[in-house]
Formats: sequence, structure tokens, C-alpha cells
Amino acid sequence: MSNESKSCPKCGAAIPDEAPHGLCPRCLLAVVSVPTEGGATGAGRPVPPPIHELAAAFPQLEILELIGQGGMGVVFKARQPKLDRVVALKILPTALAADAAFAERFTREGRVLARLNHPNIVTVHDFGQANGFFYLLMEFVDGANLRQAMRAGRFTPAQALAVVPKICEALQYAHHQGVLHRDIKPENILLDTSGRVKIADFGIAKLVGEHHGDTTLTASGARLGTPHYMAPEQVETPGDVDHRADIYSLGVVFYEMLTGELPLGRFAPPSEKSTADPRLDEVVFRTLAKDPANRPQSAGEVKTQVENIADTPRLPSPVAGAAAPPTVSPSLKKKTPMWGKVALVAALALLGLVVVGVPFLVYWWAKAAKLVPPPAVEATNSASASAETWSPSLEPGEQRPDLNKIRREAGEFREKGRFEEALQRHIWYHQHALESDAGQTGVRLSFALSEWVELGQRYPKAKQALIEIRDRNTRAFAEGRGYFGLFMDVSSINNYLQENDATYRLFKRLQQANPALARQCYHVAADVLVENREYALCRGYIGDVATAFAGLRQNWEWHKKHEERTAQDRQEQKKRMEKSQAEMRQKNPALTAPVPFSPPDSPSYGDSSFVKQTRQLVEILVGVGEKAGAEKIRDQAVALLDDPRLKSAVADAEKRVGK
Ligand code: ADP
Ligand code: MG
Repeated sequence: MSNESKSCPKCGAAIPDEAPHGLCPRCLLAVVSVPTEGGATGAGRPVPPPIHELAAAFPQLEILELIGQGGMGVVFKARQPKLDRVVALKILPTALAADAAFAERFTREGRVLARLNHPNIVTVHDFGQANGFFYLLMEFVDGANLRQAMRAGRFTPAQALAVVPKICEALQYAHHQGVLHRDIKPENILLDTSGRVKIADFGIAKLVGEHHGDTTLTASGARLGTPHYMAPEQVETPGDVDHRADIYSLGVVFYEMLTGELPLGRFAPPSEKSTADPRLDEVVFRTLAKDPANRPQSAGEVKTQVENIADTPRLPSPVAGAAAPPTVSPSLKKKTPMWGKVALVAALALLGLVVVGVPFLVYWWAKAAKLVPPPAVEATNSASASAETWSPSLEPGEQRPDLNKIRREAGEFREKGRFEEALQRHIWYHQHALESDAGQTGVRLSFALSEWVELGQRYPKAKQALIEIRDRNTRAFAEGRGYFGLFMDVSSINNYLQENDATYRLFKRLQQANPALARQCYHVAADVLVENREYALCRGYIGDVATAFAGLRQNWEWHKKHEERTAQDRQEQKKRMEKSQAEMRQKNPALTAPVPFSPPDSPSYGDSSFVKQTRQLVEILVGVGEKAGAEKIRDQAVALLDDPRLKSAVADAEKRVGK
């Protein structure tokens, strides 16, 4: 019946052609939007305030419905009519209002959270206090949380491998900003209908937990379940954890996604309990190490390891799947017959449908994520230099092309003078990276870009192709199809082509056409904006100077700690090397010459980026005439790090501004 019609008889929304059984995605979403933990307002869980009280406190919002309720507050879906956008409004537990110090801490921490701008982190639009409610106004994620998705059906290893690197990217970014999540768990990982992964509640655990004199609310018994995700040190010494606690929690989520179970007691390797690649066992075990020193030391490291495994083939096993539809659909097939025809008419309201609804959602999600390749972004004109005329053929047993191999081949062909073949591999790689990882194109590309540019110096058509791709992506912004990752992509190509002015112009247009996206892209464009002396513009994005500097300082401290740890590791490595060499020489006196071990002495990345960013901040302030503020920042920075480039920051800025 419904298969004929193109719009849902219930809500009137358009039904996409590929919707299984013509079921309306919007209605299904409405059904899955039940409170996170079954909706029961158990002991210790915040009671949602009555809607009329909220309406009075937030006259600028239309409160639509309750979408979630956990230990950290209650979440409502709301509409902001003025901006015509849907948002999520999180109300923190009302008990907090009694704590006088909380308001101050909330203002301080809220600013830090609002500064987190990452495609895999739920954006905080606003925060504050209204009629006694402490609130956060966030981007609304149209989808389901990972708990709901996992309840609906086991994740395939391929799906887990698609989600984990995204979580890593978000964590790496936030850790880099000096922000820990502290409550990574499936309820805080949201999957939207376009295949994106977004992490909610960054830093909220600390904010809310400190009120209880404890880093997490959960430890105070407010909610069961979450302690399983906490790192051992987070339970023992909650005040003294670092980013590696988040890495542990990520490991628990990863294990659960792969096996459907929590890693309790003596737990089995994931590959024994599922079709997961056995190479993942070690990665998962390491993230779950009791001692933080034995865990991967950064989220980026986990991401690289997972991606390397995903990108390199292993012996095929009968059920291990890379493509989602075949692996997701069994659960669909099993459950849809019962619902197929009836669902649209009446059963949508039944809670039971949640069980069916989420698999569809997961299916759409998987389809939208890289698991099902989207159609090519734009047909390429075959006469153009960037035309794609080559694609890799799969080796026997290979489930998808080996990206690393393709890049390696590009370099080899270039060295052999087989330029066209090299170019084809670059083009394919670029397209593929774009399809499989839209949010990270800029980053991934920057590895491949320098090689592409090198090819362009010997083979002009390669440069032409790069320009075409850049132009095509720049046009996407004019047509309203731009997004953060694409901005990174365009700006890094421009950087390699030494055409940063093009990034500048693109940002200026974006600022007119899509201020929200421009705000997101600001930190990518900051260098070119300052280069072009757009001080007033930059000043607008910076907001409170003290907070901005606190962020730089946090980054620097984080790097310092990290670098110290790396130096220690090197020292230990050196000792081990020397010891084993001495043993070898004892056994075999012929081997007299010791192999020199010289740990590389790289300049501190943390210091240099702190210097660069502080100088940039100072220049912006001088540029808008806030010299006293600039001097204050300079003095604070010099007190932290005695560096001549910091000492001369104000004088240098005056020279540049005056020019
Ligand atoms: P918990 O402590 O269980 O995470 P929260 O109060 O943080 O509880 O949120 C409960 C649920 O609300 C989340 O699990 C998620 O399903 C939903 N939710 C939270 N933030 C958003 C958002 N920005 N967009 C959509 N849904 C959200
Ligand atoms: Mg949450």
C-alpha cells in the first residue's frame, strides 16, 4: 500500500526510494527517540521539569519533546524559530542550583566546551542559566545513540571499525584542546541518519561531578552501568586522571561493539567471541590495560591502528563482512515480515517497534557511512585532467582496495617516470578518501598532497588535475554543499599550491552565506585571515580573551606532559637497547662495535605551536586596538615560557599592523 505513495501518511514527510518496505524514516526516528534508559525515572535520576516551566524559562524556544534522560540531566528536542533550526536542550540536575560555586565553574567550563569545534563532536551553541535551570543548547543529532543501536542488533565488526576511528578523531581533537570527556559510553555516542558519528557530553561529567565532590556522578551511585566504562584509575583516584582514561572507556565500548558483552573479569579476545579480525584483539586489549602507561598513548594512535587493520586485507572468513547491507540485512529480514505491512498503519506507536526501528536506522546509518559507497559526488568531465580512468581491482581475498598500497604505487610510478599511472592513483585515492571519510579529507590528503605536488612539478597535468579538484570543491560551497571537511580539503590544497588567498576569499564568501559553517571553519582559516589583517573579523570569533588564552595554555601543558612522557619512554628504550647490546657483546665478542642509539631530539611541538598561536592572538588584539590586553597575554605567556618570540610579540605585531 504505502509503496505507491512517496510521502508518509502519518507525518507527511517524503519517503526515500531506498527506505525498506517504504517505512517512513522520520516516524521510525520518533519511535527510537525514547529515553536512553527505558524512560523509567528511577531513584537518583533527574526528574524532568514540567514543560510549562521550561517554556517560561526559554521563551525563544519551542520545546518539542523529551528525548533523553540520564545521570547528567534531561535532554529535550526544541526548535529555535528565529534561526529555524532544531536544537537539543540539556537541563542539568536542578540540585546544582543550590551550589553557589557551580555557576562560576559552569561559566568557565562551558566556554571551553563551546569552543570545541569538530565534526564528530556535538556542537554546543549556547549555555547559561535561565529561571534557575542550568542549560546547554546543542546541535540536535537526528538519529539514535549507540546503546539503542546495539540493543537493536549486534554490530558487525565492519560497523564497529567504521565507528571507532571517528570516536578517536573526536577524542584526539578534544584532548589536544585540553578537554577530557570522562564519560565515554554508548549513550554518549550518537549516530545520525547521514552516517555521522557525534559524541555528546564532552566534559559534562566533570562539571556535574565536581558538585558531588567526585569526578563522576555515576560513582556517587546516581546511575548503574556506567562504572563499567570507567578506567581503573578513574574509580581509584578520580581527581587525577588524564586523557588515557578516555582511551580505556573507548576500549570498553569497542569491545562491547565487537562482542555484545562488557569486558569483565577474565574476558575473551574479541575474535573468539565474534568474526572480528584477530589482529584487533591486541588493539582492544591494549586500550583496556590497567596501567595507563601500557595503553595506546593517544586516541590518534588507536585510530591509526584500527585503520591499518581495516585497510589491509586478512584471510577471508565466511561471515566477516566489509559491506554493510549483507550483514545488516539478516536482522532486517528476520524481523521485517512481521511488521512489513502493518507497521505504517498503527503499530508505529508501539514500543516494540523500537526493536525493529533501530535496525533500519542502523541500516540507513551504515548506508550513509562509508560502508555503502555513496554515488560519485559529481560526474567528472572526461576531457578534464582530473578524470578518473583507473580504479584498483581487488586481489583475491581482498574485501576492499588497500589505500596504503595505492599511495605507495603512486610514488613508485612517479619514480619510474610513469606519470599518468601515478596521477591516476592520486586521483583515485583522493576520491576514495572523500567517499570513505568525508570529515577527514583535509588531514588524509595532506599526507598524499605533498607527493601529488611533487608529481605536478614534473608532470604539469597532475597540477592541473589538483586545481580542477580544488575548483570543483570550492564550487560546492557556492552551491550550498560545503562542509567542514571539504573546507579543510580546499584549504590544504590551496596551501600546497601556495594560493592561500583563495582560502581567504572562500572564507569571506562563506562568512556571508553560512555564518554557522564559517564559525566552524574559523580555526582552519585563522592563519590566512591574520595574514590578510582581518583583525576585527578574527576578534569576533575569539570571544573572551582570557578563555582563549586559557585554551592555548591548556594545550601547551598537555603537550608538555606528553612530551615529557615520550622523553622518558625514549630514555627507557635507550637503557634497554644498551643492556641487550652489552649482553650480545658478552656472548659474541666479535660484535664489538656498539650500535649507536640516538633518540631524535625534535624541537617541542607544544612550544612552537604555543608561541605561534599566542603571537597570533596578540597580533589580533593589537590589530583591533586592544594593546593593553595584548600586553597582558604576552606577559602571561612569557611567564610560562621564556621565548624571545613571545617577548617581542607585541612589538612585532605593532610593526605588522602598522604596515
Ligand atoms: P546520559 O547520561 O545517559 O548520556 P544524557 O542526559 O546525557 O544522558 O542524554 C540522554 C540521551 O539523550 C542520550 O543518550 C541521547 O540519546 C540523547 N541526546 C543527548 N544529546 C543529544 C543531542 N544533542 N541530539 C540528540 N539526542 C541527544
Ligand atoms: Mg549523555
